Amino acid sequence: MNLELHRHLEGSHSPAALHAVATRHDLRAKELYDAAAGRHYTPDELTRTLVMAAPTDDAGVFYDCIVKARAAYVSVEVIAELARLAFEEAAADSDGFEMRLSLFSMARTLLENQQQAWRTVKPIAFADDTARPILQAVIAARDHVQAATGKPILLRLGLSRTFESEPHYRALGAMAVEHAKDLVGLDVLGIVKGADPEPMPEALVDILGEMRRSLPDLTIHAGEFDGHASIDRTLALEPHGIGHGVHALESADTLARLAATGVTLEVCPTSNHLLIPTRLAALRAAHDGQTPLCALQRAGVHCVLGSDDPTPMATSFQQELEVARAAGVDMARLEADTLRRWRQITGQP
Ligand SMILES: [Zn+2]
Repeated sequence: MNLELHRHLEGSHSPAALHAVATRHDLRAKELYDAAAGRHYTPDELTRTLVMAAPTDDAGVFYDCIVKARAAYVSVEVIAELARLAFEEAAADSDGFEMRLSLFSMARTLLENQQQAWRTVKPIAFADDTARPILQAVIAARDHVQAATGKPILLRLGLSRTFESEPHYRALGAMAVEHAKDLVGLDVLGIVKGADPEPMPEALVDILGEMRRSLPDLTIHAGEFDGHASIDRTLALEPHGIGHGVHALESADTLARLAATGVTLEVCPTSNHLLIPTRLAALRAAHDGQTPLCALQRAGVHCVLGSDDPTPMATSFQQELEVARAAGVDMARLEADTLRRWRQITGQP
């Protein structure tokens, strides 16, 4: 069973899917439509703007690719179509997967693309009139593709540590837990500039605590852009999984805590290669040239595999499996850890 456990919806809109939706709905956003030529960009042309050209330590390059794809979020109907296409492509890429949904950023972007200043929208209206229809449309798209392909598709709600507005997050959280039966848990993600690139704002921690009464399974991106201390403070929140977490390799104590608590690291090799090339080289140099996944397995840490954002990173889950195999990862152990985590998330025996 090849099950993928770290993939984001916003990074799963392929050039082909964006082209199909842009032409069908005649979307004229500058990212999708060549006004001078009077036609929509082809999938090949879109690839040049949506895919990272090379590894870089500047996360802004990656974020720009995500922002460009979001230009297509012009209506709930279009978002629903993009979600369906992303689920179909991901289903063709594995035997089942979990998709992460950054609902706040999707709702904010939809309002912006409709020329509305989202901060002027009252939090309850933001949650009920914009975020809820998006969530319902994505759930319906998931149900459709799950039934059509027979492959299990899990949905996890992502909350960004960019944390633009506490009242809007609170309202969105209260709304989202009403849909808890269609979700498997929560994720904290996001790239923040400054001295602390992986902060956990106190009010966000409070909101997570409230939401976890309905959605207890928590994953947190940590130890990706920051060192092992980011993982140590994340462990205080008792997450079930940590996105990336590769900087645990800086500290024998952190590795031992991960192994002892059984928290799973979600490792995304191509993502690390593209987004943290300098830090990745340092980690490998300190571990006899081993890739993080190999070194983490050897330290007794449970690890699963993900493509993260396959479009900007020009990868797929199948490709990540190949990368892992070529690096000497213990594939039997990876599969056992993946099944263990899948059962934790789904509650299946
Ligand atoms: Zn991620």
